[in-house]
Amino acid sequence: MRIRHLSSQLANQIAAGEVVERPASIVKELLENSLDAGAGRIEVEVEQGGSALIRVRDDGCGIHRDDLVLALDRHATSKLETVDDLAAIRTLGFRGEALPSIASVARLTLSSRQADDAHAWRIDADAAGSGEPVPAAHPPGTVVEVRDLFFNIPARRKFLRAERTEFAYLEETFRRIALSRFDVAFRLSHNRRVIYDLPALADSAAGIERIAALCGETIAEYGLALERDAGGLSLRGWIGTPASARSQADTQYFFVNGRVVRDKVVSHALRLAYQDVLHHGRHPAYVLYLDIPPAEVDVNVHPGKHEVRFRESRLVHDFLARTVKAALAHSAPEAPAVRPGFAPSPGAPDRPGGGGAPSRDSSYPAWQPRMQQSMPLRAAEAAAALYARTPLVDPVDGRQAFAGEAPAPQSADDELPLGRAVAQLHGVYILAENRHGLIIVDMHAAHERIVYERLKLGREGEGIRVQPLLVPVTLRLSVAEAELVEDSRELLAALGLEVERLGVDGAVVRAVPALLCEADAERLVRDVIADIRTWGDSDRVRERIDETLATMACHGAVRANRRLTLAEMDGLLRDMERTERSGQCNHGRPTWTQLDMKALDTLFMRGK
Ligand code: ADP
Ligand code: MG
Repeated sequence: MRIRHLSSQLANQIAAGEVVERPASIVKELLENSLDAGAGRIEVEVEQGGSALIRVRDDGCGIHRDDLVLALDRHATSKLETVDDLAAIRTLGFRGEALPSIASVARLTLSSRQADDAHAWRIDADAAGSGEPVPAAHPPGTVVEVRDLFFNIPARRKFLRAERTEFAYLEETFRRIALSRFDVAFRLSHNRRVIYDLPALADSAAGIERIAALCGETIAEYGLALERDAGGLSLRGWIGTPASARSQADTQYFFVNGRVVRDKVVSHALRLAYQDVLHHGRHPAYVLYLDIPPAEVDVNVHPGKHEVRFRESRLVHDFLARTVKAALAHSAPEAPAVRPGFAPSPGAPDRPGGGGAPSRDSSYPAWQPRMQQSMPLRAAEAAAALYARTPLVDPVDGRQAFAGEAPAPQSADDELPLGRAVAQLHGVYILAENRHGLIIVDMHAAHERIVYERLKLGREGEGIRVQPLLVPVTLRLSVAEAELVEDSRELLAALGLEVERLGVDGAVVRAVPALLCEADAERLVRDVIADIRTWGDSDRVRERIDETLATMACHGAVRANRRLTLAEMDGLLRDMERTERSGQCNHGRPTWTQLDMKALDTLFMRGK
């Protein structure tokens, strides 16, 4: 066969293979065009999951009559002129492929009116081409109608799934785009039923309302708001607390310069940030917005543009991981939000639902996000919404020491966020009273977190303090395990364990971390060896060292059924207040909750 040019119809249909996979991809392209046109309100009407009809109407700038035919031409765009523009692209589209691709696989009608036109113009198109614009009635803006998707390509029509499935994809696309621009009103209806009607929000801080409407309550109710700018990068948005993590990764939205992306660098950074507060197999929820100079990111990686490439991916990765990690670290319990006579310091963000008391700690590192819980925790309304202090634990001897300007705990009981212990319940829970009501603490989970954080601090600082055992403990091991002990002596020492191989199949434990001196040394060391075996080579172990510390912390934590005195319980509460991440145990479960007086009154129908 000789070489010849593809007909433009066939070329468009081939290009459509990349751009138009299903109804959802059409909605994506049309919504992006409307946003690029500066629309303030966009309405999407869909029938039969989008395969029968998709209609997108906007009040944007419209298209000049003489450009209507051009808009349907391949590689015709108003958004780009030179290759330099591409490096600084601010619009969502720029490839000039969407409308011609859609027209080649469906019946398309485009009506548009610019602000100073007397009336609108309409043009009809399909794979065979388009007609001439004819006058039409339409307010300023644009409406695109796409009917009978793949009517001319039966092979592709066959790949469309059930109406419900296609609509689910489409809805997800709509959701992402509606999350990308709080200042634009969006509406979606399916088979004449309104699914979402989202007003424009004046202030992006109010975005939490839209998130609640689109994603349910997970983030909206239990989320932490974060905000941080550094080195030209800016990250803001909301992250779910570890306790509200989900069994599926279905509430994870990440936007780069307003464009939703799925990116390996991003998801790795987020996983890293959550790694030690998340229950195994759970997925955090987040809606995050990264702004980055356009020249630092390449959006032209994929025709559907859902991938990006960062020029300095390491930098972006670390910025994300550190910011989110810090936000999570500061979700420790804090003083009550509303404290009379306490004026917020200048520069404190003003967010809904927070109560807005800023950090009292002047030594708060500058790079940490200004964050607060966007809305009170349902069960912990009273203690919600605050910034936490930097940890005040002296890593050397495990006792608390107060650094510099950091505030000493107030002696007045009503200044203690977790209150005073009043009782222990079945050897499992501590009940405490603060001025808002009742606090319930899972004592093992809470203590485990405290021990873990101290072990980490010790390791990162001057080393974990060890305590020699009065009577060394000998273990029988397998030969492989004994060899592992021999090969891992350095690593074991870094973990605060002095263990030596003994003979062919034994080992002797001579010292353990002081924090764990009451633990069963044999079981402790066996667990650590098991961890090291699981992680494999020592590089991996170093990566996983925190997980091993978490394993160890479990041995040091108070066991259920141990009776504590009130003083011991109070000590634990104070430790929790001072410890980062103490809101979750090492497995991501919550360690405490609050039932305030209002909640208690509701339980007893008081005042009704
Ligand atoms: P691209 O968005 O990559 O430029 P498209 O094929 O999606 O390519 O659109 C072609 C052109 O049609 C756009 O560059 C824009 O000028 C115009 N256009 C498309 N949709 C709209 C709209 N809703 N409002 C105004 N102009 C539009
Ligand atoms: Mg476009």
